Amino acid sequence: MGDTNKNVARMIYYALHALQHRGQEAAGICVHDGKSIHSYRGIGLVAEVFTETQIALLPGAVGIGHVRYPTSGAHTLENSQPILVKYRDKTIAVAHNGNLVNSGELRSELEGAGDIFSTTSDTEVIAHLLVKEIQRYDLADAVRAVMRRLVGSYSLAIMCNDTVIGLRDPLGIKPLCIGAIDDGIVVASESVAIDALNGRLIRDVAPGEMVVLRDGEMNCIRLVNSPRPAHCIFEYVYFARPDSIMDTKLIYDVRVNIGSILADEHPADADIVSPIPDSGITMAVGYHQRSGIRYKECLMKNRYVGRTFIMPDQSMREAAVRMKMNTIRPNIEGQRIVLVDDSIVRGTTSRRIVKMVKDAGAQKVHVRIGSPPIIAPCYLGIDMASRDELIAAHKTVAGVETVIDADSLGYVSLEGLIRAIGLPEDHFCTGCLTGIYPLDIPGERSMSSQRRLTDFPPNDGGG
Ligand code: AMP
Repeated sequence: MGDTNKNVARMIYYALHALQHRGQEAAGICVHDGKSIHSYRGIGLVAEVFTETQIALLPGAVGIGHVRYPTSGAHTLENSQPILVKYRDKTIAVAHNGNLVNSGELRSELEGAGDIFSTTSDTEVIAHLLVKEIQRYDLADAVRAVMRRLVGSYSLAIMCNDTVIGLRDPLGIKPLCIGAIDDGIVVASESVAIDALNGRLIRDVAPGEMVVLRDGEMNCIRLVNSPRPAHCIFEYVYFARPDSIMDTKLIYDVRVNIGSILADEHPADADIVSPIPDSGITMAVGYHQRSGIRYKECLMKNRYVGRTFIMPDQSMREAAVRMKMNTIRPNIEGQRIVLVDDSIVRGTTSRRIVKMVKDAGAQKVHVRIGSPPIIAPCYLGIDMASRDELIAAHKTVAGVETVIDADSLGYVSLEGLIRAIGLPEDHFCTGCLTGIYPLDIPGERSMSSQRRLTDFPPNDGGG
C-alpha cells in the first residue's frame, strides 16, 4: 500500500482485519519511512498481534501486510510474513498468497549455491530469487526472471526499499485487486480490504501483471501472458468473503446463484431450508428464493469460541462442538429440513450436524452442497486435506449420503457452479473437483500443455 501522507501501518492494520478470514495463524506489517524498513510480526489474529504501541512503532507512508494461513512451512514465528531479506543497501519484504509447487527444488538449488535460509516457507525462496535477479536486471526484468522459475500460485506484495509491487501469477490462480484510497493506491487479495479503507475498487490485477507503486504513482506492466486464466474456483465457493468482488464477480451474487441452481438440480420435498452457518448462509438464501421453501435457521454459531479451544479428550471435543454450534430446537421439531453448506471435505461437519438436527427432532434432513464433490487435493493454496482424508475421493454420492446419515444428498454440478459464477468455463482451476490441474504437478494430471505461457518481450509495456 502506498499513501503519500498518512501513517500507513494503521491503514494496513484495518485492511488486515478485513482479510482476517484468509488466515488466522499469524499477522505482520512492514513499512518504509523513507530511510529504512520497520517490521513487526506475531502469531495469532490481527487484533492479538498488534497493539496501539506496536502500530506507533511502524512509521512510514508505504508498506505491506499479511495474514498467514499455512499451506507450506511450519507453524512458527519465522514463517510468518512479510518475510524480510537484506542485501547490500536494499531490503526486500515479501508477502505471499498462494503455494509454490517447486519450492523444494528451488531451495535445494539456492542452498547449493550458498544461500542460507532462515525459514521453511516457500515465500523465502521467492525473496532469495528476487534478491539475485535484482542485482542483474532492472525491476521489471528481475521480476520476470523470477516468474520464469516459479511453478505454483502466487499473488505477491513485495516491498523493495520504498517501492511496493503487486504481482499476480500468470494464471491468476489467487486473487489480487487494485483500489484507490485518499492520496494513495492499495493492492489487496480481496476488495473488502479496500472497502475497509473507504476506498474504491479500480480493477483486478491481470494474470501475469505487475503493479508498481512508487512516489505516489502507479505503473502496470503485463510481464507474462497466458492463453487463459485459471482462477481458483474454491474462492467463489468458500474462501472469499461474500462482500468481495473477485475477478469482476460479487461473491454474494455467485453464492445466491449457486443456491438457486442447487434448488433446480436437487429439489427436495421439505418444510424449511436452513444454512449450516456461516459458510452456507448465502447459498441457502438462493435455494429458498428459487424453491419457494421457507427460510428458517436451525443452527446458530457461537463466534466467540476461539480457534485454540483446548480439547483434551473425546467428551471435551463434543462439548466444544456444542459450544461452537447450537440447534434451535423449536425450528427443527417435526420439520423436513434442507440443510445447505458450501462443501464437504472430510465429511465430519455434515455428519455431526445431521446428527444434531435429527437429535433435535427433525423428521427428514436433506443435505445440499454448493460445490461438486471434492475428489482431489489442492496444491495451489487451499489447505484442504490429503487425498486419503477426502471422503468423496473414496465414496460415491450415495456412499457419502450413508456416512453423513442424510435422507438425501445433492451436490451442485460443475457446470452449474461455473454458470453461477458467470465466467467462461475454461477460466478456472478446478483441480480439487476434477483432479486435473492447470500446472504440472508430480503424480497428477495436468492441462498445462494447452496453456503455454508466453513472455512479453522485455520493455514491452503491455498494460
Ligand atoms: P469437513 O467437515 O471436513 O467435511 O469440512 C467441511 C466444512 O469445512 C464446511 O462447512 C466448509 O465450510 C468448511 N471448509 C471447507 N474448506 C475448508 C478449508 N480449506 N479450511 C477450513 N474449513 C473449510
